[in-house]
Amino acid sequence: KEVADKIAAGEVIERPLSIVKELVENSIDAGARSITVEIKKGGKNYIRVTDDGCGIKSDEVEIAFLRHATSKISRAKDLESIETLGFRGEALASIAAVSRTEIITKTAEEKAGTRLVIEGSSIAEREATGCPGGTTIVVRDLFYNTPARRKFMKSDAGESSAVIEFVSQISLAYPHLRIRMISNGNMLFSTPGKGDRYKNILTVFSRELGDGLIPVQAEEGNLRLEGYISNPGESRATRKQQIFFVNGRVVDSKVIQKGISQAYADKLFEGRFPIAFLFLAIRPDSLDVNIHPNKREIRFNDEDFVTEFIRKSLREALLSKES
Ligand code: ADP
Ligand code: MG
Repeated sequence: KEVADKIAAGEVIERPLSIVKELVENSIDAGARSITVEIKKGGKNYIRVTDDGCGIKSDEVEIAFLRHATSKISRAKDLESIETLGFRGEALASIAAVSRTEIITKTAEEKAGTRLVIEGSSIAEREATGCPGGTTIVVRDLFYNTPARRKFMKSDAGESSAVIEFVSQISLAYPHLRIRMISNGNMLFSTPGKGDRYKNILTVFSRELGDGLIPVQAEEGNLRLEGYISNPGESRATRKQQIFFVNGRVVDSKVIQKGISQAYADKLFEGRFPIAFLFLAIRPDSLDVNIHPNKREIRFNDEDFVTEFIRKSLREALLSKES
């Protein structure tokens, strides 16, 4: 009961990004080594996520689509020490309720896989099928049965750039996974999945980077920083290309941003932004993370210390490059 109450917060599927996020996080939780995300026209009518994870047993596929069905949590206290990305057991149920959803899945032990089509929560087709181990989920015609919600989506371009941005960030956060992004039939990137962050960044952002990046590495107190930043003046980025990870999660942080601006203060040409991919590790008791997995905000206990640490570390990297 308590678990159910805690979980009941409820999550809404608002747009293609919400779906891609849930599906990719499920793939990661399923132990996938390789994940492919494909969208067409921003994902409004077609989203496909394929993984080589553990799959779902034939007699458990329907259960996975029930609300609050999750294989990932059993006791309330698990919520405090949660390690999986999803734990509310609502994503598949919510997605299936507002689209035509197809799943093809097979565990390693099974000879045959299962294919299931669900339209607006009811099962339209079910059959045994030959397929490799893992799971493919195709989501078609998002909001076909709730037309009012269709108009809250952005243009195809707006929706696809939100999806591509998310998949890019996931690719950097999980450098050991092989992640492929396909949009309108074009392969936008395919990461090597060998754990090399720098190679991943170059693969994912090759079109924008051009000039190579300066490595940053620093440590102080309970903070450890790794990352890559652009050469001053060489950056061609006219929009902000800054991605911050704190303890492995993408966050929005004015505190980190301020440190970057200060480090580059006198070093950038008008209208250019430093590129910065920063991975910060901090002792968990030095920050306040909202447990809701969709929240990107965090609060550092000592904000000035973090800003100054970022400024110093980046400044040092920039200066060492000059000399
Ligand atoms: P949650 O992730 O919160 O458990 P979901 O609705 O996202 O809830 O998924 C329901 C269940 O379906 C999961 O707990 C998991 O057992 C199973 N599942 C979903 N996606 C996958 C996948 N890609 N591979 C294997 N199992 C999956
Ligand atoms: Mg999930």
